[in-house]
Amino acid sequence: MTTSHYIAGRWVEGQGSDCISVNDPALGQPIAELMAASVAQVDQAVTAARGALPAWKNTSASERAAYLRGFAEQLGQRREALITLQMRNNGKPRHEAEIDLDDAIATFGYYAELAEQLPSKNRDVPLAAPGFSARTRLEPVGVVGLIVPWNFPLVTSAWKLAPALAAGCTVVLKPSEVTPLIEQAYGQIADALGLPAGVLNIVNGKAETGAALSNHNGLDKLSFTGSNSVGSQVMRSASAQCRPVTLELGGKSAIVVFDDCDVGQAVEWIVAGITWNAGQMCSATSRLLVQDGIADALLPRLQAALEQLRVGNPLTEEVDMGPLTSQAQWLKVAGYFATAREEGLQCLAGGKALDRDGWFVSPTLYADVSKDSRLWTEEIFGPVLCARRFATEEQAIAEANDSRFGLVATVCSADLERAERVADALEVGHVWINSVQAVFVETSWGGTKGSGIGRELGPWGLSAYQSVKHVTRCLG
Ligand code: NAD
Repeated sequence: MTTSHYIAGRWVEGQGSDCISVNDPALGQPIAELMAASVAQVDQAVTAARGALPAWKNTSASERAAYLRGFAEQLGQRREALITLQMRNNGKPRHEAEIDLDDAIATFGYYAELAEQLPSKNRDVPLAAPGFSARTRLEPVGVVGLIVPWNFPLVTSAWKLAPALAAGCTVVLKPSEVTPLIEQAYGQIADALGLPAGVLNIVNGKAETGAALSNHNGLDKLSFTGSNSVGSQVMRSASAQCRPVTLELGGKSAIVVFDDCDVGQAVEWIVAGITWNAGQMCSATSRLLVQDGIADALLPRLQAALEQLRVGNPLTEEVDMGPLTSQAQWLKVAGYFATAREEGLQCLAGGKALDRDGWFVSPTLYADVSKDSRLWTEEIFGPVLCARRFATEEQAIAEANDSRFGLVATVCSADLERAERVADALEVGHVWINSVQAVFVETSWGGTKGSGIGRELGPWGLSAYQSVKHVTRCLG
Protein backbone atom coordinates (compact mmCIF):
# COMPACT_ATOMS: atom_id res chain seq x y z
CA MET A 1 0.00 0.00 0.00
CA THR A 2 1.55 3.33 -0.96
CA THR A 3 0.84 6.85 0.22
CA SER A 4 0.33 8.63 -2.98
CA HIS A 5 -1.58 11.87 -2.84
CA TYR A 6 0.29 15.14 -2.66
CA ILE A 7 -1.95 17.84 -1.23
CA ALA A 8 -0.87 21.23 0.08
CA GLY A 9 2.77 20.15 0.13
CA ARG A 10 2.19 16.95 2.14
CA TRP A 11 1.95 13.28 1.23
CA VAL A 12 -1.30 11.82 2.49
CA GLU A 13 -3.07 8.47 2.38
CA GLY A 14 -6.18 8.13 0.26
CA GLN A 15 -9.51 8.26 2.06
CA GLY A 16 -11.65 7.29 -0.95
CA SER A 17 -13.55 4.03 -1.32
CA ASP A 18 -11.69 2.63 -4.38
CA CYS A 19 -8.62 0.47 -3.93
CA ILE A 20 -6.38 0.87 -6.97
CA SER A 21 -4.31 -2.09 -8.05
CA VAL A 22 -1.18 -1.14 -9.99
CA ASN A 23 -0.01 -3.93 -12.30
CA ASP A 24 2.95 -5.25 -14.23
CA PRO A 25 1.29 -5.92 -17.60
CA ALA A 26 4.04 -8.27 -18.76
CA LEU A 27 3.13 -10.66 -15.93
CA GLY A 28 -0.49 -9.63 -15.41
CA GLN A 29 0.29 -9.30 -11.71
CA PRO A 30 -0.14 -6.50 -9.16
CA ILE A 31 2.92 -4.57 -8.01
CA ALA A 32 1.29 -2.08 -5.64
CA GLU A 33 -2.01 -0.98 -4.19
CA LEU A 34 -3.26 2.41 -3.13
CA MET A 35 -6.47 3.93 -1.88
CA ALA A 36 -8.00 6.57 -4.12
CA ALA A 37 -8.41 10.15 -2.96
CA SER A 38 -11.87 10.93 -1.60
CA VAL A 39 -14.06 13.71 -2.91
CA ALA A 40 -13.16 15.69 0.24
CA GLN A 41 -9.44 15.26 -0.55
CA VAL A 42 -10.00 16.54 -4.09
CA ASP A 43 -11.65 19.54 -2.49
CA GLN A 44 -8.64 19.99 -0.17
CA ALA A 45 -6.32 19.90 -3.18
CA VAL A 46 -8.32 22.54 -5.08
CA THR A 47 -8.49 24.68 -1.92
CA ALA A 48 -4.72 24.38 -1.51
CA ALA A 49 -4.17 25.40 -5.14
CA ARG A 50 -6.50 28.37 -4.68
CA GLY A 51 -4.65 29.42 -1.53
CA ALA A 52 -1.27 29.22 -3.26
CA LEU A 53 -2.34 31.17 -6.36
CA PRO A 54 -1.90 34.82 -5.25
CA ALA A 55 1.72 34.35 -4.20
CA TRP A 56 2.64 32.03 -7.09
CA LYS A 57 1.24 34.24 -9.83
CA ASN A 58 3.20 37.15 -8.41
CA THR A 59 6.55 35.35 -8.38
CA SER A 60 8.88 36.69 -11.02
CA ALA A 61 8.97 34.84 -14.32
CA SER A 62 12.65 34.06 -13.73
CA GLU A 63 11.86 32.51 -10.36
CA ARG A 64 9.26 30.24 -11.98
CA ALA A 65 11.77 29.43 -14.74
CA ALA A 66 14.28 28.37 -12.07
CA TYR A 67 11.75 25.93 -10.60
CA LEU A 68 11.02 24.51 -14.07
CA ARG A 69 14.74 24.00 -14.70
CA GLY A 70 14.82 22.27 -11.32
CA PHE A 71 12.11 19.87 -12.51
CA ALA A 72 14.13 19.08 -15.64
CA GLU A 73 17.28 18.48 -13.62
CA GLN A 74 15.58 16.35 -10.98
CA LEU A 75 13.88 14.21 -13.62
CA GLY A 76 17.37 13.55 -14.97
CA GLN A 77 18.60 12.57 -11.50
CA ARG A 78 15.78 10.00 -11.23
CA ARG A 79 16.54 8.64 -14.70
CA GLU A 80 17.04 4.94 -14.03
CA ALA A 81 14.17 4.67 -11.54
CA LEU A 82 11.72 6.39 -13.89
CA ILE A 83 12.77 4.34 -16.89
CA THR A 84 12.38 1.11 -14.93
CA LEU A 85 9.00 2.14 -13.55
CA GLN A 86 7.66 2.92 -17.02
CA MET A 87 8.94 -0.44 -18.28
CA ARG A 88 7.36 -2.21 -15.33
CA ASN A 89 4.02 -0.40 -15.12
CA ASN A 90 3.45 0.60 -18.77
CA GLY A 91 5.25 -2.30 -20.41
CA LYS A 92 7.33 0.10 -22.51
CA PRO A 93 10.54 -1.15 -24.15
CA ARG A 94 13.59 0.55 -22.60
CA HIS A 95 14.35 2.80 -25.58
CA GLU A 96 10.77 4.11 -25.54
CA ALA A 97 10.85 4.72 -21.78
CA GLU A 98 14.09 6.68 -22.29
CA ILE A 99 12.55 8.83 -25.02
CA ASP A 100 9.54 9.63 -22.82
CA LEU A 101 11.79 10.76 -20.00
CA ASP A 102 13.87 12.92 -22.35
CA ASP A 103 10.68 14.43 -23.76
CA ALA A 104 9.49 15.39 -20.26
CA ILE A 105 12.90 16.91 -19.45
CA ALA A 106 12.90 18.90 -22.71
CA THR A 107 9.38 20.16 -21.99
CA PHE A 108 10.34 21.62 -18.60
CA GLY A 109 13.47 23.17 -20.12
CA TYR A 110 11.53 24.72 -23.00
CA TYR A 111 8.84 26.28 -20.80
CA ALA A 112 11.53 27.62 -18.46
CA GLU A 113 12.81 29.59 -21.45
CA LEU A 114 9.33 30.77 -22.39
CA ALA A 115 8.69 31.82 -18.79
CA GLU A 116 11.82 33.98 -18.91
CA GLN A 117 10.51 35.73 -22.02
CA LEU A 118 7.15 36.51 -20.41
CA PRO A 119 7.87 40.07 -19.18
CA SER A 120 8.59 41.20 -22.75
CA LYS A 121 5.18 39.90 -23.88
CA ASN A 122 3.41 42.56 -21.80
CA ARG A 123 3.49 45.50 -24.16
CA ASP A 124 1.96 48.77 -25.27
CA VAL A 125 -0.70 48.52 -27.96
CA PRO A 126 -0.63 51.32 -30.54
CA LEU A 127 -4.13 52.78 -31.01
CA ALA A 128 -5.47 54.54 -34.12
CA ALA A 129 -7.80 56.64 -31.97
CA PRO A 130 -6.19 59.68 -30.30
CA GLY A 131 -6.45 60.42 -26.58
CA PHE A 132 -5.95 56.91 -25.21
CA SER A 133 -3.09 54.58 -24.45
CA ALA A 134 -3.38 50.83 -24.04
CA ARG A 135 -1.22 47.96 -22.89
CA THR A 136 -1.64 44.19 -22.59
CA ARG A 137 -0.83 41.93 -19.68
CA LEU A 138 -0.71 38.15 -19.99
CA GLU A 139 -2.06 36.75 -16.74
CA PRO A 140 -2.36 33.18 -15.51
CA VAL A 141 -5.79 31.62 -15.98
CA GLY A 142 -5.78 30.65 -12.29
CA VAL A 143 -6.37 27.26 -10.67
CA VAL A 144 -6.26 24.48 -13.25
CA GLY A 145 -7.36 20.84 -13.07
CA LEU A 146 -5.24 18.47 -15.15
CA ILE A 147 -6.58 14.98 -15.95
CA VAL A 148 -4.35 12.59 -17.88
CA PRO A 149 -4.36 9.03 -19.27
CA TRP A 150 -1.91 6.14 -18.84
CA ASN A 151 -0.19 5.75 -22.19
CA PHE A 152 2.52 8.42 -21.82
CA PRO A 153 2.23 9.35 -18.13
CA LEU A 154 5.47 11.31 -17.72
CA VAL A 155 5.05 13.13 -21.02
CA THR A 156 1.36 14.03 -21.01
CA SER A 157 1.66 15.40 -17.48
CA ALA A 158 4.79 17.39 -18.38
CA TRP A 159 2.99 18.92 -21.38
CA LYS A 160 0.40 20.31 -18.96
CA LEU A 161 2.39 20.95 -15.78
CA ALA A 162 5.30 22.84 -17.32
CA PRO A 163 3.30 25.50 -19.25
CA ALA A 164 0.73 25.85 -16.45
CA LEU A 165 3.42 26.52 -13.84
CA ALA A 166 5.34 28.77 -16.27
CA ALA A 167 2.21 30.88 -16.80
CA GLY A 168 1.76 31.30 -13.04
CA CYS A 169 -1.17 28.90 -12.59
CA THR A 170 -1.49 26.52 -9.65
CA VAL A 171 -2.63 22.99 -10.43
CA VAL A 172 -4.31 19.80 -9.30
CA LEU A 173 -3.12 16.83 -11.35
CA LYS A 174 -5.10 13.59 -11.57
CA PRO A 175 -3.00 10.81 -13.11
CA SER A 176 -4.58 7.66 -14.52
CA GLU A 177 -5.46 4.90 -12.08
CA VAL A 178 -3.54 2.52 -14.39
CA THR A 179 -0.18 4.27 -13.87
CA PRO A 180 -0.49 6.28 -10.64
CA LEU A 181 3.05 5.68 -9.38
CA ILE A 182 4.90 7.35 -12.24
CA GLU A 183 3.69 10.91 -11.76
CA GLN A 184 4.45 10.73 -8.05
CA ALA A 185 7.90 11.80 -9.21
CA TYR A 186 6.49 15.25 -9.88
CA GLY A 187 5.34 15.54 -6.25
CA GLN A 188 8.69 14.27 -4.97
CA ILE A 189 10.47 16.82 -7.15
CA ALA A 190 8.21 19.62 -5.92
CA ASP A 191 9.20 18.58 -2.38
CA ALA A 192 12.90 18.45 -3.21
CA LEU A 193 12.82 21.88 -4.87
CA GLY A 194 10.83 23.50 -2.08
CA LEU A 195 8.05 24.48 -4.48
CA PRO A 196 5.59 26.48 -2.34
CA ALA A 197 2.90 24.23 -0.84
CA GLY A 198 -0.29 24.06 -2.89
CA VAL A 199 1.24 25.13 -6.21
CA LEU A 200 1.27 21.50 -7.41
CA ASN A 201 -1.16 18.95 -5.97
CA ILE A 202 -1.63 15.35 -7.09
CA VAL A 203 -4.75 13.28 -6.40
CA ASN A 204 -5.02 9.71 -7.59
CA GLY A 205 -8.16 7.76 -8.32
CA LYS A 206 -10.56 6.42 -10.89
CA ALA A 207 -13.58 8.02 -12.57
CA GLU A 208 -15.07 9.20 -9.28
CA THR A 209 -11.94 11.19 -8.42
CA GLY A 210 -11.70 12.57 -11.96
CA ALA A 211 -15.35 13.62 -11.89
CA ALA A 212 -14.90 15.26 -8.47
CA LEU A 213 -12.10 17.32 -9.96
CA SER A 214 -13.76 18.20 -13.25
CA ASN A 215 -17.03 19.15 -11.47
CA HIS A 216 -15.29 21.22 -8.80
CA ASN A 217 -16.45 24.82 -8.82
CA GLY A 218 -13.09 26.06 -7.53
CA LEU A 219 -11.31 25.56 -10.87
CA ASP A 220 -10.72 28.27 -13.45
CA LYS A 221 -9.92 25.82 -16.23
CA LEU A 222 -9.67 22.12 -16.95
CA SER A 223 -7.21 20.46 -19.29
CA PHE A 224 -8.03 16.86 -20.14
CA THR A 225 -6.28 14.20 -22.17
CA GLY A 226 -8.08 10.91 -22.69
CA SER A 227 -10.90 9.18 -24.47
CA ASN A 228 -13.73 10.87 -26.33
CA SER A 229 -16.38 9.38 -24.07
CA VAL A 230 -14.83 10.79 -20.88
CA GLY A 231 -13.83 13.98 -22.73
CA SER A 232 -17.44 14.74 -23.51
CA GLN A 233 -18.37 14.28 -19.83
CA VAL A 234 -15.57 16.63 -18.86
CA MET A 235 -16.81 19.14 -21.43
CA ARG A 236 -20.33 18.90 -20.03
CA SER A 237 -19.05 19.76 -16.55
CA ALA A 238 -17.04 22.66 -18.01
CA SER A 239 -20.10 23.94 -19.85
CA ALA A 240 -22.22 23.72 -16.69
CA GLN A 241 -19.83 26.23 -15.13
CA CYS A 242 -19.00 28.16 -18.33
CA ARG A 243 -15.27 27.68 -17.91
CA PRO A 244 -12.60 26.95 -20.49
CA VAL A 245 -11.49 23.46 -21.29
CA THR A 246 -8.69 21.98 -23.36
CA LEU A 247 -9.40 18.49 -24.69
CA GLU A 248 -6.79 16.15 -26.21
CA LEU A 249 -8.81 13.15 -27.35
CA GLY A 250 -8.60 10.13 -29.59
CA GLY A 251 -7.50 9.53 -33.15
CA LYS A 252 -7.78 7.20 -36.12
CA SER A 253 -4.98 8.61 -38.17
CA ALA A 254 -3.96 7.85 -41.72
CA ILE A 255 -0.55 7.03 -43.16
CA VAL A 256 -0.57 7.65 -46.92
CA VAL A 257 2.06 5.82 -48.97
CA PHE A 258 2.54 6.87 -52.60
CA ASP A 259 4.05 4.47 -55.12
CA ASP A 260 7.27 6.47 -55.58
CA CYS A 261 8.42 5.46 -52.06
CA ASP A 262 11.26 3.15 -51.23
CA VAL A 263 9.37 0.04 -50.03
CA GLY A 264 11.77 -0.83 -47.20
CA GLN A 265 11.73 2.70 -45.83
CA ALA A 266 7.93 2.91 -46.05
CA VAL A 267 7.60 -0.38 -44.16
CA GLU A 268 9.78 1.01 -41.36
CA TRP A 269 7.60 4.11 -41.03
CA ILE A 270 4.37 2.13 -41.12
CA VAL A 271 5.57 -0.34 -38.47
CA ALA A 272 6.76 2.43 -36.13
CA GLY A 273 3.48 4.32 -36.52
CA ILE A 274 1.41 1.37 -35.31
CA THR A 275 3.64 -0.57 -32.90
CA TRP A 276 5.33 2.18 -30.87
CA ASN A 277 3.95 1.89 -27.31
CA ALA A 278 2.16 -1.25 -28.58
CA GLY A 279 -0.07 1.01 -30.67
CA GLN A 280 -1.45 2.70 -27.54
CA MET A 281 -1.01 6.16 -28.99
CA CYS A 282 -3.65 8.74 -29.73
CA SER A 283 -1.47 9.49 -32.76
CA ALA A 284 -1.10 5.88 -33.97
CA THR A 285 -1.29 5.85 -37.77
CA SER A 286 -3.71 2.95 -37.80
CA ARG A 287 -5.25 3.48 -41.25
CA LEU A 288 -2.79 2.63 -44.03
CA LEU A 289 -3.65 4.06 -47.45
CA VAL A 290 -1.31 2.53 -50.00
CA GLN A 291 -1.22 3.44 -53.69
CA ASP A 292 -2.05 0.68 -56.20
CA GLY A 293 1.39 0.76 -57.84
CA ILE A 294 3.25 -0.20 -54.65
CA ALA A 295 0.65 -2.20 -52.68
CA ASP A 296 1.55 -5.68 -53.99
CA ALA A 297 5.24 -5.16 -53.21
CA LEU A 298 4.64 -3.46 -49.87
CA LEU A 299 2.02 -5.61 -48.12
CA PRO A 300 4.07 -8.86 -48.00
CA ARG A 301 7.12 -6.93 -46.71
CA LEU A 302 4.94 -5.26 -44.09
CA GLN A 303 3.47 -8.60 -43.05
CA ALA A 304 6.98 -10.05 -42.63
CA ALA A 305 8.21 -7.01 -40.68
CA LEU A 306 5.29 -7.20 -38.25
CA GLU A 307 5.75 -10.94 -37.77
CA GLN A 308 9.45 -10.48 -37.05
CA LEU A 309 8.98 -7.96 -34.25
CA ARG A 310 10.24 -9.18 -30.90
CA VAL A 311 7.29 -9.00 -28.50
CA GLY A 312 7.99 -9.67 -24.84
CA ASN A 313 8.67 -8.49 -21.30
CA PRO A 314 10.85 -5.38 -21.54
CA LEU A 315 12.34 -6.04 -18.11
CA THR A 316 13.74 -9.45 -19.00
CA GLU A 317 14.08 -9.51 -22.80
CA GLU A 318 15.37 -7.31 -25.62
CA VAL A 319 12.05 -6.34 -27.23
CA ASP A 320 10.59 -4.16 -29.96
CA MET A 321 7.13 -4.17 -28.43
CA GLY A 322 5.87 -4.84 -24.93
CA PRO A 323 2.44 -5.87 -23.64
CA LEU A 324 -0.68 -3.73 -23.63
CA THR A 325 -0.68 -1.69 -20.45
CA SER A 326 -3.89 -2.94 -18.84
CA GLN A 327 -6.10 -5.97 -18.87
CA ALA A 328 -9.03 -3.76 -19.88
CA GLN A 329 -7.11 -2.61 -22.96
CA TRP A 330 -6.10 -6.20 -23.77
CA LEU A 331 -9.75 -7.31 -23.60
CA LYS A 332 -10.77 -4.35 -25.76
CA VAL A 333 -8.22 -5.21 -28.46
CA ALA A 334 -9.17 -8.91 -28.29
CA GLY A 335 -12.78 -7.78 -28.85
CA TYR A 336 -11.69 -6.07 -32.09
CA PHE A 337 -9.96 -9.31 -33.20
CA ALA A 338 -13.31 -11.08 -32.69
CA THR A 339 -15.12 -8.35 -34.66
CA ALA A 340 -12.59 -8.71 -37.48
CA ARG A 341 -13.33 -12.45 -37.64
CA GLU A 342 -17.09 -11.79 -37.65
CA GLU A 343 -16.65 -9.21 -40.41
CA GLY A 344 -14.52 -11.70 -42.39
CA LEU A 345 -11.53 -9.34 -42.65
CA GLN A 346 -8.43 -10.60 -44.44
CA CYS A 347 -5.80 -10.97 -41.70
CA LEU A 348 -2.21 -10.85 -43.02
CA ALA A 349 -0.45 -10.81 -39.62
CA GLY A 350 -1.35 -11.35 -35.97
CA GLY A 351 -5.01 -11.02 -35.11
CA LYS A 352 -4.70 -12.80 -31.78
CA ALA A 353 -3.65 -12.52 -28.16
CA LEU A 354 -0.36 -14.26 -27.34
CA ASP A 355 -0.54 -17.53 -25.47
CA ARG A 356 1.58 -16.49 -22.48
CA ASP A 357 1.20 -14.72 -19.14
CA GLY A 358 0.57 -11.00 -19.32
CA TRP A 359 -1.43 -8.83 -21.67
CA PHE A 360 0.29 -9.42 -24.98
CA VAL A 361 -1.15 -9.32 -28.48
CA SER A 362 0.60 -9.82 -31.78
CA PRO A 363 1.18 -6.91 -34.17
CA THR A 364 -1.72 -7.16 -36.57
CA LEU A 365 -2.43 -6.29 -40.20
CA TYR A 366 -5.78 -6.49 -41.99
CA ALA A 367 -5.83 -5.86 -45.76
CA ASP A 368 -8.50 -4.41 -48.05
CA VAL A 369 -10.65 -3.42 -45.09
CA SER A 370 -14.05 -1.99 -45.96
CA LYS A 371 -14.63 1.72 -45.25
CA ASP A 372 -17.62 0.71 -43.11
CA SER A 373 -15.71 -1.74 -40.92
CA ARG A 374 -15.59 -0.85 -37.24
CA LEU A 375 -11.87 -1.58 -37.41
CA TRP A 376 -11.44 1.14 -40.05
CA THR A 377 -13.51 3.77 -38.26
CA GLU A 378 -12.98 3.24 -34.50
CA GLU A 379 -9.92 3.94 -32.35
CA ILE A 380 -8.62 0.53 -31.24
CA PHE A 381 -5.59 1.69 -29.22
CA GLY A 382 -3.45 -1.34 -29.91
CA PRO A 383 -1.02 -2.59 -32.59
CA VAL A 384 -3.76 -3.17 -35.15
CA LEU A 385 -3.27 -1.77 -38.65
CA CYS A 386 -5.96 -1.70 -41.34
CA ALA A 387 -4.99 -1.19 -44.98
CA ARG A 388 -6.80 0.04 -48.05
CA ARG A 389 -5.57 0.79 -51.57
CA PHE A 390 -6.03 4.01 -53.50
CA ALA A 391 -5.44 5.11 -57.09
CA THR A 392 -5.12 8.91 -57.11
CA GLU A 393 -3.92 11.69 -54.83
CA GLU A 394 -7.49 13.06 -54.62
CA GLN A 395 -8.79 9.68 -53.53
CA ALA A 396 -6.10 9.38 -50.84
CA ILE A 397 -6.94 12.81 -49.42
CA ALA A 398 -10.68 12.10 -49.44
CA GLU A 399 -10.25 8.75 -47.68
CA ALA A 400 -7.77 10.11 -45.14
CA ASN A 401 -10.17 12.94 -44.29
CA ASP A 402 -13.17 10.62 -44.08
CA SER A 403 -12.99 10.23 -40.30
CA ARG A 404 -14.65 11.81 -37.30
CA PHE A 405 -11.15 12.25 -35.84
CA GLY A 406 -8.43 14.63 -37.03
CA LEU A 407 -5.33 14.27 -34.88
CA VAL A 408 -2.32 13.51 -37.12
CA ALA A 409 -1.32 11.97 -40.45
CA THR A 410 1.84 10.75 -42.17
CA VAL A 411 2.56 11.25 -45.87
CA CYS A 412 5.27 9.16 -47.54
CA SER A 413 6.39 10.20 -51.01
CA ALA A 414 9.58 10.97 -52.92
CA ASP A 415 7.73 13.84 -54.59
CA LEU A 416 8.07 16.51 -51.92
CA GLU A 417 5.88 19.02 -53.74
CA ARG A 418 3.07 16.50 -53.75
CA ALA A 419 3.73 15.55 -50.12
CA GLU A 420 3.46 19.20 -49.05
CA ARG A 421 0.27 19.63 -51.12
CA VAL A 422 -1.31 16.57 -49.50
CA ALA A 423 -0.19 17.74 -46.04
CA ASP A 424 -2.00 21.04 -46.62
CA ALA A 425 -5.19 19.22 -47.64
CA LEU A 426 -5.36 16.88 -44.64
CA GLU A 427 -7.84 17.87 -41.90
CA VAL A 428 -5.59 17.17 -38.91
CA GLY A 429 -3.52 19.02 -36.33
CA HIS A 430 -0.09 17.64 -37.30
CA VAL A 431 1.31 16.04 -40.47
CA TRP A 432 4.59 14.17 -40.75
CA ILE A 433 6.23 13.99 -44.17
CA ASN A 434 8.61 11.06 -44.62
CA SER A 435 8.95 10.64 -40.87
CA VAL A 436 6.79 9.23 -38.17
CA GLN A 437 5.71 10.24 -34.66
CA ALA A 438 8.46 12.85 -34.33
CA VAL A 439 7.19 15.32 -31.73
CA PHE A 440 9.15 18.44 -30.88
CA VAL A 441 8.31 20.66 -27.94
CA GLU A 442 8.44 23.78 -30.15
CA THR A 443 5.66 22.52 -32.46
CA SER A 444 1.99 22.33 -31.52
CA TRP A 445 0.07 19.23 -30.47
CA GLY A 446 -3.67 18.76 -30.79
CA GLY A 447 -6.38 17.81 -33.21
CA THR A 448 -9.27 18.94 -35.34
CA LYS A 449 -12.81 17.49 -35.45
CA GLY A 450 -13.39 14.83 -32.77
CA SER A 451 -9.74 14.79 -31.69
CA GLY A 452 -10.11 17.71 -29.37
CA ILE A 453 -10.15 21.39 -28.60
CA GLY A 454 -7.05 23.54 -28.21
CA ARG A 455 -3.33 22.94 -28.61
CA GLU A 456 -0.51 21.87 -26.33
CA LEU A 457 3.25 22.43 -26.73
CA GLY A 458 5.01 25.40 -28.28
CA PRO A 459 3.82 28.91 -27.43
CA TRP A 460 0.22 27.67 -27.93
CA GLY A 461 0.68 25.35 -24.95
CA LEU A 462 1.57 28.35 -22.78
CA SER A 463 -1.30 30.49 -24.13
CA ALA A 464 -3.69 27.75 -23.02
CA TYR A 465 -2.90 28.76 -19.41
CA GLN A 466 -2.94 32.52 -19.97
CA SER A 467 -5.61 35.14 -20.07
CA VAL A 468 -5.16 38.44 -21.95
CA LYS A 469 -5.89 41.65 -20.08
CA HIS A 470 -5.90 45.10 -21.68
CA VAL A 471 -5.42 48.25 -19.64
CA THR A 472 -6.70 51.32 -21.49
CA ARG A 473 -6.05 54.83 -20.14
CA CYS A 474 -7.61 58.12 -21.14
CA LEU A 475 -4.80 60.59 -21.72
CA GLY A 476 -6.97 63.70 -21.53
P1 NAD B 1 -9.89 7.71 -20.26
O1 NAD B 1 -10.72 8.77 -20.89
O2 NAD B 1 -10.55 6.46 -19.86
O3 NAD B 1 -9.19 8.28 -18.93
C1 NAD B 1 -8.45 9.48 -18.93
C2 NAD B 1 -8.45 10.06 -17.53
O4 NAD B 1 -9.77 10.46 -17.20
C3 NAD B 1 -8.00 9.08 -16.45
O5 NAD B 1 -7.22 9.77 -15.51
C4 NAD B 1 -9.33 8.65 -15.84
O6 NAD B 1 -9.23 8.21 -14.50
C5 NAD B 1 -10.13 9.93 -15.92
N1 NAD B 1 -11.58 9.76 -15.86
C6 NAD B 1 -12.30 8.65 -16.09
N2 NAD B 1 -13.62 8.91 -15.96
C7 NAD B 1 -13.73 10.22 -15.64
C8 NAD B 1 -14.83 11.09 -15.40
N3 NAD B 1 -16.09 10.66 -15.45
N4 NAD B 1 -14.57 12.40 -15.14
C9 NAD B 1 -13.31 12.88 -15.12
N5 NAD B 1 -12.22 12.08 -15.32
C10 NAD B 1 -12.43 10.76 -15.58
O7 NAD B 1 -8.68 7.45 -21.26
P2 NAD B 1 -7.49 6.40 -21.13
O8 NAD B 1 -8.03 5.04 -21.40
O9 NAD B 1 -6.75 6.64 -19.86
O10 NAD B 1 -6.54 6.87 -22.34
C11 NAD B 1 -6.74 6.49 -23.65
C12 NAD B 1 -7.39 7.59 -24.46
O11 NAD B 1 -6.64 8.80 -24.34
C13 NAD B 1 -7.40 7.28 -25.94
O12 NAD B 1 -8.65 7.61 -26.49
C14 NAD B 1 -6.32 8.20 -26.51
O13 NAD B 1 -6.48 8.52 -27.87
C15 NAD B 1 -6.44 9.38 -25.63
N6 NAD B 1 -5.19 10.16 -25.65
C16 NAD B 1 -5.15 11.34 -26.34
C17 NAD B 1 -3.97 12.06 -26.44
C18 NAD B 1 -3.90 13.35 -27.22
O14 NAD B 1 -2.92 14.07 -27.04
N7 NAD B 1 -4.86 13.67 -28.07
C19 NAD B 1 -2.82 11.59 -25.78
C20 NAD B 1 -2.89 10.40 -25.08
C21 NAD B 1 -4.08 9.69 -25.02
